[in-house]
Amino acid sequence: MQSAINSARAAEEYGLPADRIILSAKVSRVPDLVRVYREMAARCEYPLHLGLTEAGMGAKGIVATTAALAILLQEGIGDTIRTSLTPLPDGDRTEEVRICQQILQSLEIRSFTPQVTACPGCGRTTSTFFQEMADQIQTYLRNQMPVWRDQYPGIEELKVAVMGCVVNGPGESKHADIGISLPGTFEEPKAPVYVDGRLVVTLKGVNIVPEFIQILNQYVERRYASQPVISAANERA
Ligand code: SF4
Repeated sequence: MQSAINSARAAEEYGLPADRIILSAKVSRVPDLVRVYREMAARCEYPLHLGLTEAGMGAKGIVATTAALAILLQEGIGDTIRTSLTPLPDGDRTEEVRICQQILQSLEIRSFTPQVTACPGCGRTTSTFFQEMADQIQTYLRNQMPVWRDQYPGIEELKVAVMGCVVNGPGESKHADIGISLPGTFEEPKAPVYVDGRLVVTLKGVNIVPEFIQILNQYVERRYASQPVISAANERA
């Protein structure tokens, strides 16, 4: 850690501008990473690049990285971040980027994509319909983002709730911008939809998902479409 700071100062003495320097420490254990970066933050003003080296594969790597970065980011330490996972054969390396985005969004530092709140499901849920619907909606939102990002400023702040039963689902739905509660086991086959905390419609039948996505699209259009520019001529008219 001290050698990183010494090297940066030496680089400055050789003429490298301070705003071209960012420090990163290669550390592979979470407690060590937190300690090293806390000390670096206390001892220098250089920007810091956070990341857990050799984090590992899958859930272990994601959890370890998140645990380390969350502590530091909450303390205001860190200017850029990375995730370094060992991918599965033919694995998708963009997952590392999505994990970094989700860490920042979960800590409410920066939003990147609409968030879906989905309950874990329990004995009240019927079959896998509820999990499939939550996944379809999450996938739909992610796929729409390349277009929506330009078309609908602020869309990344949207909150959607997909809940597994009408007993506890409506409460969470009311706290989201738009939410749906699916029928649980032994409940009537209907799915109430809440928009901005109010019940607007109850969906029934086999087309609940496409109908909910249609309502979602209408909500996005209504809430996030850019306001038309009023020309001076129109204002005078
Ligand atoms: S919202 Fe309903 S289905 Fe989901 S976990 Fe809670 S009780 Fe279970």
